[in-house]
Amino acid sequence: MKYCLVGAGFSGAVIGRELAEAGHEVTVVDERSHIAGNCHTERDAETGVMVHTYGPHIFHTDDQEVWEYVNRFTAFKPYVNRVKATSRGQVFSLPINLHTINQFFGKTMRPDEARNFIEAQADMSIENPLTFEEQALRFVGPELYEAFFKGYTQKQWGCHPSELPASILKRLPVRFNYNDNYFFHRYQGMPEHGYTRLVEGILDHPNIVVQLNTRFERNQAADFDHVFFSGPLDGFFDYKLGRLGYRTLDFERFTYQGDYQGCAVMNYGEESVPYTRITEHKHFSPWEEHEGSICYREYSRFCEVDDIPYYPIRLVKEKALLSDYVAKAQQVKNVTFVGRLGTYRYLDMDVTIREALDTARDFLNCNENQQPVPAFFVEI
Ligand SMILES: Cc1cc2nc3c(=O)[nH]c(=O)nc-3n(C[C@H](O)[C@H](O)[C@H](O)COP(=O)(O)OP(=O)(O)OC[C@H]3O[C@@H](n4cnc5c(N)ncnc54)[C@H](O)[C@@H]3O)c2cc1C
Repeated sequence: MKYCLVGAGFSGAVIGRELAEAGHEVTVVDERSHIAGNCHTERDAETGVMVHTYGPHIFHTDDQEVWEYVNRFTAFKPYVNRVKATSRGQVFSLPINLHTINQFFGKTMRPDEARNFIEAQADMSIENPLTFEEQALRFVGPELYEAFFKGYTQKQWGCHPSELPASILKRLPVRFNYNDNYFFHRYQGMPEHGYTRLVEGILDHPNIVVQLNTRFERNQAADFDHVFFSGPLDGFFDYKLGRLGYRTLDFERFTYQGDYQGCAVMNYGEESVPYTRITEHKHFSPWEEHEGSICYREYSRFCEVDDIPYYPIRLVKEKALLSDYVAKAQQVKNVTFVGRLGTYRYLDMDVTIREALDTARDFLNCNENQQPVPAFFVEI
């Protein structure tokens, strides 16, 4: 069979590889000049630093099959994400942990004391938190909320935390020990030669042809037995029903001789600072040594027509429009919508790869059993 994968990010590459290994002819197209989608990394010619072009990416997962899958194609180096935050003229450790609490309140509490202390700060009068703000006040009280959540969230989402659903802050964002590893997952690491090398390995198969600088248009679907579309769902239909709302990011790139901030990620929680964070890319490859440094100041804003869509907004208005697009997609014959843009969801890389592996398997099963192929293999 002849299959087309639109998008050479993890979604397109992994599904393409699975289908190629099953003996099919696979074409992967991407409108960009490079593979790896938003995870693209490139070595800066001047400094030698591995730059995460569309923002920093750290690989972390509990999914053993996915971890083994990525390690099959490239070597991973150990990497632990430790984030710092500047607030009220001081530098703190994130996520909020015992060190943060003791430093912030000028105390030397042990875990149980800190737990009781934070409980006393929390606003227990909020019985059923509906908004992000209520949820944060209920979990950590006003002081930590103001210092670490309020301004950051306002900048990230462009609206007041009282306008966002409580579900964004699902569990208690505080640790009562000194563990400052940002992620809880069993496996965490960084591909030694960057994500683009990893995706290159996935796409390196005799049945796969990659076409870059090639925009896929809807009417081209007729040239293939089936298409997997990892571009924007609304874009596939030329935005006929309107645009699904996204946040976009502006990266203000600057260079520095030496070590600019001493860590990979420094958050800025205060509203008076216009950016959300500064990332220093050489610290994402701590096994390398570079004199020069590349940093990104990161600004978040509403995604306009010519911007790159980053974070789906998914509030009430967007969800209504999404269900209209889903209904439209279900009427298209030989196209399945996949990935972060095709299904309008925020997906970490490991989840993207997991879904791509499952999608390819489900698709091959459908074919084997002569069942119709759905527009979506996942719940959206
Ligand atoms: C700022 C940021 C930071 C992130 N950090 C992390 C992290 O630390 N850890 C983590 O696990 N995940 C992270 N992620 C998530 C990660 O980026 C995604 O999981 C991943 O990019 C999803 O891959 P994808 O293939 O679905 O989409 P993409 O990588 O976006 O690939 C889609 C591709 O489709 C192409 N395309 C679209 N339309 C067309 C068309 N019509 N014709 C041809 N080509 C088209 C695009 O050019 C693009 O290359 C982060 C995301 C963001 C936004």
